[in-house]
Amino acid sequence: MAEKVTITKADVASINAHDVVGEGDRLDLKKLTKEELIERESQVSRRCRGPLKEGAREKINELMAKGTAEDTEAAKNLDAASRKRCGYDMNEVFLKGPLDGEDHEYTCPNCGVKGTYRAAGPVPG
Ligand SMILES: [Zn+2]
Repeated sequence: MAEKVTITKADVASINAHDVVGEGDRLDLKKLTKEELIERESQVSRRCRGPLKEGAREKINELMAKGTAEDTEAAKNLDAASRKRCGYDMNEVFLKGPLDGEDHEYTCPNCGVKGTYRAAGPVPG
């Protein structure tokens, strides 16, 4: 049984089509078919970063709570150094789920990390 960790947006990239287009080029999702949306989203790399080692989350949260640029940087570095690497292509999960623009829970099929993601979409149908 894999450990259950609280995963943040930083753990995997969020899957929201608005993130992959510029402000001036806002994508009108209603004009995309499901296939077009999947094609577009597949081009964004979303790799599982793997579970954090025990105790790392607390230290990272402490650093983040301090809030200075140095502490935030230190938290990012500690996060990166505290991961058991996974690398699973999370598009395999995210793009097979509903494309409804809603938040969903996921479990990485490779390492068992759980979290939530915001689905791309919605698309008609
Ligand atoms: Zn994983």
